[in-house]
Formats: sequence, C-alpha cells, structure tokens
Amino acid sequence: MAEYNGIKCDQCPAHTSEPVDWLVAIERPDLDGVMYESLESLSDDLPESFTLRHLCGDACARIDFNLWLDRHKQLNLQRKGEAA
Ligand SMILES: [Zn+2]
Repeated sequence: MAEYNGIKCDQCPAHTSEPVDWLVAIERPDLDGVMYESLESLSDDLPESFTLRHLCGDACARIDFNLWLDRHKQLNLQRKGEAA
C-alpha cells in the first residue's frame, strides 16, 4: 500500500494519513460512467486523463454518486437539446 501524507475527502472535511476503508471515484474520458474502488487496491499508474475523487467512506460515496447522477442527467438533457 502506498504511503499517504495526509489525504482529504473530496465530499466532506475529513482527512487522514491512514485511509482505511476509503474509496476512490474514478471517471474515465472514454467511459460514460463512474467506478468506485477501494483506495488500498488502487493502482499507482492510472492515466492522467482519469479523474479521481477521494472519499472517506460509503456515506460520501453515496453523495458522490448522487452528484454524478445529477451531472449525468444534465449532460443527457444538453445532448438531447443539441440533437433536437
Ligand atoms: Zn467524506
């Protein structure tokens, strides 16, 4: 497991140097979706084009997913508007 010099949750003020049970939200430019992975098993060599958000636990992961769904809905509405 990688060493962390203090890591901050992207959804709440939590921070830690021992991110046990933390999650990472991963968005890829080539994928219309979001993935969640445990921070401990996250690969060190993800492409820079990936967007990562650190999450302190499942409560913040739920918030993150709700926000993603809202963004996704907005994007779909925009796309439909552009296609019409
Ligand atoms: Zn949090």
